[in-house]
Amino acid sequence: FQQLIDQDTIVAQATAPGRGGVGIVRLSGAKSLEIAQAIIGFEPTPRYAHYVPFKDAQGEQLDMGIALYFPGPNSFTGEDVFELQGHGGPVIIDMLLSRCMALGARLARPGEFSERAFLNDKMDLTQAEAIADLIDSSSEQAAKCALRSLQGAFSKRVDELVESLIHLRIYVEAAIDFPEEEIDFIGDGKVAADLEEIRNKLHSVMKEANQGALLREGMSVVIAGRPNAGKSSLLNALSGKDSAIVTSIEGTTRDVLREHIHLDGMPLHIIDTAGLRDSPDEVERIGIQRAWEEIHKADRILLMVDSQSLESNDPNEIWPEFMSQLTAQDHLTLVRNKVDLTKESTGYEEVNGLPVISLSAKTNDGIDALTTHLKSVMGFDSTTEGGFIARRRHIEALQKANRYLEAGFEQLHGYGAGELLAEDLKEAQQALSEITGAFTSDDLLGRIFGSFCIGK
Ligand code: GDP
Ligand code: ZN
Repeated sequence: FQQLIDQDTIVAQATAPGRGGVGIVRLSGAKSLEIAQAIIGFEPTPRYAHYVPFKDAQGEQLDMGIALYFPGPNSFTGEDVFELQGHGGPVIIDMLLSRCMALGARLARPGEFSERAFLNDKMDLTQAEAIADLIDSSSEQAAKCALRSLQGAFSKRVDELVESLIHLRIYVEAAIDFPEEEIDFIGDGKVAADLEEIRNKLHSVMKEANQGALLREGMSVVIAGRPNAGKSSLLNALSGKDSAIVTSIEGTTRDVLREHIHLDGMPLHIIDTAGLRDSPDEVERIGIQRAWEEIHKADRILLMVDSQSLESNDPNEIWPEFMSQLTAQDHLTLVRNKVDLTKESTGYEEVNGLPVISLSAKTNDGIDALTTHLKSVMGFDSTTEGGFIARRRHIEALQKANRYLEAGFEQLHGYGAGELLAEDLKEAQQALSEITGAFTSDDLLGRIFGSFCIGK
């Protein structure tokens, strides 16, 4: 895999913008050493911390700090890297950046340092993505998993799968090319057994990747229900804050409200919807329209009802107007609220295949049953140790590889068509290679690194 690497020497602030104790300006590229010499006045010793003045073109001091030089290829990007660690003030950093640019560097694009590290084989794509995920992680669990991905835990699993696929492809293609050798791979159980083993391995990687993606992206939950069912109260109970206005006057929650909480490290994006009803009020109608957009996209819809006035557990009877507008009904959970008033027991049950949770948003009884249920519908297992972080892109690639493996099985068992099986195996391998970046397009790279911050 070859790609032309930009020859420019790039520069950017590596620390967060604003004021701080230390501000770091980082350079990467062929001109790094030349620029370093101009700023500190001598050739820096590799990997040695020089405490020196940083000087401008006239030899006047801009700042005093630590200069570090990492000659390529033993650097983060694989190129010559020079770092100036000065005082973290925006004016000082700007002066240092301008000085580097006057000496021939250009400002780096977002993610360009990581992109160069990837293009110079210092790390693969999942590791580069893990850097961004580590920095952006919203919980301790997510951070730990991002670090494991950065250290190659995910890539290793994918590489093993690719390796097994290559072996199987060689065997199958040999059988096609040399039929006189009479390798009858349909009758011979080896291909089927190998394919089965690869499929099982892929499934276990998919399961782990799903956990990783949940840690990163979380789940979205919509709380829907008629006015006064207790939606805002549930939102507050889940988030432990008084973020939504709780009131007994109908129609007070006019807009879509959001809360972000964590369930054992999994981010939960909760959306409390406006009371879904016909309204003459323009603002309220806009709120209702927005609520419907959220409902259609959600991982889970909690249909909330006041158990005092509940005669049926059938959502179609409880709220036919709502149910008739739902496109998919498999994401639905019925929440029977206010059981403190009806003296019913709290907890989870299944009624005609529909999950039903009885709780009290006021006393918090039964909230645990709800959070356990939410984790379980997403397949989130907070007890798994040693996982890695993953993205939607990875999940999609794994699913694509899985589809080709399934198609391969069909070829093998249904038609015994060796050429088509070989083609499916090749496609499966390619889908997996997209994850680590061994096979990828410029467009994909642009999208991934473009979402990074400048200086990463
Ligand atoms: P929303 O319109 O669906 O958002 O409902 P609210 O959360 O604003 O609640 C409406 C009213 O019901 C408020 O007076 C709440 O205090 C009350 N309420 C909500 N949940 C419970 C509950 O579990 N038990 C009792 N007794 N009252 C509740
Ligand atoms: Zn409300």
